[in-house]
Amino acid sequence: MKTVIFASTNKDKLKEIGEILSDRDIELKTMSEIGFDDEIEENGKDFTDNALIKARAVEDYVLANKPEMKEYIIIADDSGLEIDHMGGMPGVQSHRWLGERTYTQAMLDVIEEMKDVPDEERGARFVCAMAACVNGHEPMIVKEKVEGMVDRELKGSEGFGYDPFFYVPEYGCTTAQMTRQQKNEISHRGKAMRAMRDLLVKENIL
Ligand code: IMP
Repeated sequence: MKTVIFASTNKDKLKEIGEILSDRDIELKTMSEIGFDDEIEENGKDFTDNALIKARAVEDYVLANKPEMKEYIIIADDSGLEIDHMGGMPGVQSHRWLGERTYTQAMLDVIEEMKDVPDEERGARFVCAMAACVNGHEPMIVKEKVEGMVDRELKGSEGFGYDPFFYVPEYGCTTAQMTRQQKNEISHRGKAMRAMRDLLVKENIL
């Protein structure tokens, strides 16, 4: 049985990745479960950089502290929201950009700022880059996105973060109005996790 280490402490993400890898003979662990609890500074220029920084930090820890772990698969992700009207912001700063505000306050600020922006200029996307560091392999990267629009009001209570104002035209609702399963099927992270799984299977790693 192979061990997959997920470089995050986010329980929801771990649950999602666990579901997508459920048919593989693997043991899934968080980085805390192997004793790595350091804050990793995400100072990369884009999502791909940050995902790689996280995966490599955990790999360095494994190489230095876990000599018994000769075979490892370390997966990390980085994601965020890009709003066209704001030149792609908040992007890699999606969390930091809040400052002292709650998500609700930040979204209401954007809605107010964009109140005169017509529908065709309200484009936005969630992006997710995922990196895998595997013993004996070059780092592997996948990047996926889901396209949507900044809604004119907040709708729904599922999900987290910017979901209540992220409207997906094909579904006629925001990602906060979708069930977790529906969101997983279309989301940036769900797609990236499935793409990474397929890549690792193709390379005979999983
Ligand atoms: P990270 O990948 O955990 O670093 O995510 C960065 C930030 O992007 C989150 O804290 C949210 O602000 C935003 N974000 C990423 N994915 C989603 C999503 O699926 N829904 C809403 N917000 C998201």
